[in-house]
Amino acid sequence: MDSQEKRSILIIYTGGTIGMINEPLTGSLVPVDFKEISSQLPELRKFDLNLHTYTFNPPVDSSNITPDFWIELAKVIEREYNNHDGFVILHGTDTMCYTASALSFMLKNLNKPVIFTGSQLPIGVLRTDGKENLLTAIEIAAERKNKQAMVPEVGIFFQNKLYRGNRTSKHNAEYFNAFVSENYPPLAEAGISIHYNYGAIHYPVNEKPLKVHTDLNDQVAILKLFPGIRQEFVHAVLSLPWIKGVVLETFGAGNASTDESFIGEIRSACERGVIILNVTQCPAGRVNPGKYETSRLLHEAGVINGRDLTTEAAVTKLMFLLGEYASPDAVKEKLNRSVSGEITL
Ligand code: ASP
Repeated sequence: MDSQEKRSILIIYTGGTIGMINEPLTGSLVPVDFKEISSQLPELRKFDLNLHTYTFNPPVDSSNITPDFWIELAKVIEREYNNHDGFVILHGTDTMCYTASALSFMLKNLNKPVIFTGSQLPIGVLRTDGKENLLTAIEIAAERKNKQAMVPEVGIFFQNKLYRGNRTSKHNAEYFNAFVSENYPPLAEAGISIHYNYGAIHYPVNEKPLKVHTDLNDQVAILKLFPGIRQEFVHAVLSLPWIKGVVLETFGAGNASTDESFIGEIRSACERGVIILNVTQCPAGRVNPGKYETSRLLHEAGVINGRDLTTEAAVTKLMFLLGEYASPDAVKEKLNRSVSGEITL
């Protein structure tokens, strides 16, 4: 796109609190049309940008979002990719990290910003955080550095920080700092000006056309360990007839019980070809196989080291790789690599 021309940003509204109102009968928050948002935001007209909008019909609470929705979203971006310089996605905070992680894998060769944001208070509420979030997300999506997008990544902007989408987790259901990225630094911080962390942003070395991957396989599960977890429960999950991949949320540095009844379940699932990916329940830090006896046995049984993946990135990476590759060995090999900056090797 000609740099003399006004930059064009597509705002994709999927739903979420930012565009919600209280339903008169029940009093519960439900999403409404994008017009509600734009009517509350005359500031949008002050941007020296071409702003376009695309609204999902109907907009949804993000707890209702499914992999089919991610596919639809990825296809909207694919269709509109050459018409815009950047994308801002308004999305509920509850599952934003899952959608951002999934999109980071599905949008191969991305070289334009795809910035997710939303809010904790609806845009019509006086103290809303939605205005700042949306206005700054637009600014980031339109920013350039030497004719290149400043942030050619899938990011989440919230309160005053821009994070890599596949490194974030929702950690706060009350305060405005809803997200954390414990294992990767912010890509930018917004104060009086926006400070970009160039060293942390991924810039593509050579420009290739966008390739959108839409084969996702949902034959996956997340199994969170707790002291006292029953063997029948572990067995029931690992022997589901359709199961192909399991994110195992372990303790601390990737540890689990050494009880043979538990390890035996893990071993036999691995032998049956179920891919088990070890991530820690801790919000920060990483799996360190063999540091303790309690992780050594897991990995000897065939579990894959998820290193410092978030659970959100782990489960969406599994869905993506199981959709892409028929062979479990190929999936395992890719799990040991970074697909889009989601893991520290
Ligand atoms: N339940 C809402 C959603 O995720 C919460 C939010 O947007 O903050 O859609």
